[in-house]
Order: sequence, then C-alpha cells, then structure tokens
Amino acid sequence: MAKRKSTKGSARSCIFCGRGQHEVNILVQGNDYAICDICTINAYRMVEEDLDYSGPELGPREHRMAKPAKPEEHFKLPSGFSPRFIKEFLDLYVIGQDSAKISFSIAVYNHYKRLAAGDSLEVEIEKSNVLFVGPTGTGKTLMAKCMAKLLDVPFAIVDATSFTEAGYVGEDVEGMLSRLLQSCDYQVHQAEKGIIYIDEIDKIARKSENPSITRDVSGEGVQQAMLKIVEGADVNVPPAGGRKHPEQQFLKVNTRNILFICGGAFDGLEKIIAKRLNANVIGYGSTQERKEVDKENWLRYASHQDLKRYGLIPELLGRLPVLTYLENLSQQALKEILVLPKNAIIKQYKELFALDGIGLEFQEDALELIAELAYEHKLGARGLRTICETLLREAMFDPTAHALAGRLLVDRQYVIDHIDPQQIRRSA
Ligand code: ADP
Repeated sequence: MAKRKSTKGSARSCIFCGRGQHEVNILVQGNDYAICDICTINAYRMVEEDLDYSGPELGPREHRMAKPAKPEEHFKLPSGFSPRFIKEFLDLYVIGQDSAKISFSIAVYNHYKRLAAGDSLEVEIEKSNVLFVGPTGTGKTLMAKCMAKLLDVPFAIVDATSFTEAGYVGEDVEGMLSRLLQSCDYQVHQAEKGIIYIDEIDKIARKSENPSITRDVSGEGVQQAMLKIVEGADVNVPPAGGRKHPEQQFLKVNTRNILFICGGAFDGLEKIIAKRLNANVIGYGSTQERKEVDKENWLRYASHQDLKRYGLIPELLGRLPVLTYLENLSQQALKEILVLPKNAIIKQYKELFALDGIGLEFQEDALELIAELAYEHKLGARGLRTICETLLREAMFDPTAHALAGRLLVDRQYVIDHIDPQQIRRSA
C-alpha cells in the first residue's frame, strides 16, 4: 500500500473534506491548514474546467484518481442491456414484486439510454425518477441497491427525515449529494451519473392540506428544497456534508443525470385510494368494476392524485413520474427469500457453518415453519433473519458437537425446540 505522507506542518486533517492524515496519501501543509491530495487534484480539475486552463498534464497516478471519464464521452450501455435484462438481474436478488421490477427496469433503461445518447438528442428527454410505494421490508431499498450494483454507478441511501429546510436545525438537502460524492471518493463526474435512494419520503408529507401559520420546515419545506436537486441543476455541495464545516469549499455537482428513487410505506394511503375508488365506482354504479378491485392490495391503484392528497406537493410528484407499488410479502414469498436470492439468508448461514466444517441443512418443513412464523407475526423479510439468528444461536455459540458430527440438520422439530414464541411476539 502507498505510504501515507504529510509535508511539514501541524494540521492533521484536510481543511476541505475533513479527511484525517491516515485517510489520504498526502496532506500538504500550509501555514495553519492542510489540504489532502484528493482535494488538491479536484481543485486543479475545477480550475482547469472553469477557466479552460491548460496547465501541466497530470501524471498517470493522479489521472486515475482525479480525472474520471466524463459521462458524455464514456458512458456506454452494456451490450444486451434491456429492460428484460435488468429485470432478470433483479430476479436474482428480489423475490416477487414483478410489477415494480418491470416499471423500475423500464425507467432505469430509459434513464441510462438517455445518458448514453448524450447531447445527440434532438428532443430533450426528461428524467424517469422513480417513486416506490409499499410496506416496510418489502424490497424497496434492496431493489435500488441491486440496480446500483448492476450499473456499477455510485449509490447513496439517504433518509428524508434527516433533512430540514435551509436555515433550520438539521441537515440541508444538499447533504444527499455529499453522501453520493463520498461514495465515489469525490469523483464529481462519476457522482453525476449515480443513483440516490431517498427513504421515508412519506415522512416529509405536508402536515395539513391548509397553509399553516408555523412553517413546516421538516415537511413541505424539505420537499420544496428538493425540487431543484431532483429536477436537475448545478448544485453547490459541501463535500463533507452538514453545516459543521462552514469553512469548506463547495463542489459543483450537476444533478441532471442523477437518478432519484424515492420510497415510502405511506401508512394510511390505502384509505385515500379506497375512498377515491369507491367514489368512482359508486358514481358510475358499476358493480362489475367494484368486484374487480383487489381489496387486499389497495396500493396497486395508487396514483399521483392520491399521493398529493397524502401530502406530497404536486411539483415534487411531477418530478417523480414513475410511480410503482410493492406488495406485502406472502408466506410463500418469505419462504423463497430464505433460500432463493443469490445471497439468501440460509446460504449465508451455510457458508458460516461450513467455515467450522459443519454441513448445515434445512428441511423443507423447517423452512415452511420459519416463513409461517414471520408471516403470522407480521415480521416481514427482516424478521426472517431475527428468527434464524435465534434458531441457530446455540449451535453458533458452541459448534463442537455438530463439528464432530460434521453436520447440523434443521427440521421442523428443531425449529419448535429452539424458537421462543414469546421472543418472536416481542420483536413483532
Ligand atoms: P424496504 O422496503 O423497507 O426498503 P428493504 O429493501 O430494506 O425494505 O428490505 C429489508 C431486507 O429484507 C432486505 O435486505 C432483504 O434481505 C429482505 N427483503 C425484503 N424484500 C425482499 C424481496 N422481495 N426479496 C428478497 N429479499 C427481500
């Protein structure tokens, strides 16, 4: 590994990005402050771009670090890339949710097709930012993560509730771009074609339909602040994020090609949808239509109109044109999640036990019971891990007996003997 150096001086971290001496290759010391190699090179690039400055060429190593490919020049769609291809990739990791997968695959395909076309388009194609509506633990974040993995682009997950309107206590919305920059080592051009997943978007819904005397700084105020970023603009981003480093220099990031994916559980949205659908159906007096409504799954009928009623402002909704839903996971889906995804929970435990020389096997009826427990107690996919952890706790704590036998067989009885229903109820 390259040796970390510091020129003579006392500063221990970079004044621009805040990285410490041990996180960078070189810390160039000034009178009282220091700047790291990454920021030096980024600053060089900014000067070069803004002033069309043709100074000395950077050497090969710096070139690698600070001169990533410009998207216009180098972004190419992988061969065979198509919505079907994307969906098949998602199928490897995400169980069910076909409707969401299809809409998402089309949106991402169109987004990156537009990006690959660069400036050659005669008609400017708008971005296909996505809004996922679905109960918690049904795969919204997982889908966004998988997409970033497939495309090999920078990816950041942010929580909408951590932001507030500028000037109030909390983080400014530009912080989401800092997070994206951090994920790709401040390579601005890479970040400019990345993906940001904004979780809990439903929690920043407008508090009431009517204007209020007190400002809604963590709700509507945040939505307003997000508009410019989500739409596509040059945004000045504090590289270290937050407001803790007022002295930091901003990096300019263009968000035109950043794909924004928002997700939320939208508790209570069902009632709004049901009200609208019932009103429509009753209005036309069609019993046929009323019968066709899938009452188990109201979210599948979610529309931008419903979300506006819920409290998202129309301007933000307009910038999230692709609206898709995720359904509650069935017991069968939960069972499949245990074993089918590429990195399925059971596969992970098998790998762990194999390291101790133990062949871990699960019988079909054991898997069935684990899925049933998670389903009955409404624990969702996240609960599967909790159950497995409890189930295998004893064996993981003291694997000697199983190591001697060389195997551990988990059948229905083993699950019954090792799962404490009380504990499951408590985690529900
Ligand atoms: P959320 O919808 O709240 O964003 P996540 O995507 O974070 O939920 O899911 C939590 C975990 O549950 C994931 O890491 C994954 O292991 C599992 N999971 C949830 N839904 C699915 C699914 N449809 N297929 C496979 N795994 C899933």
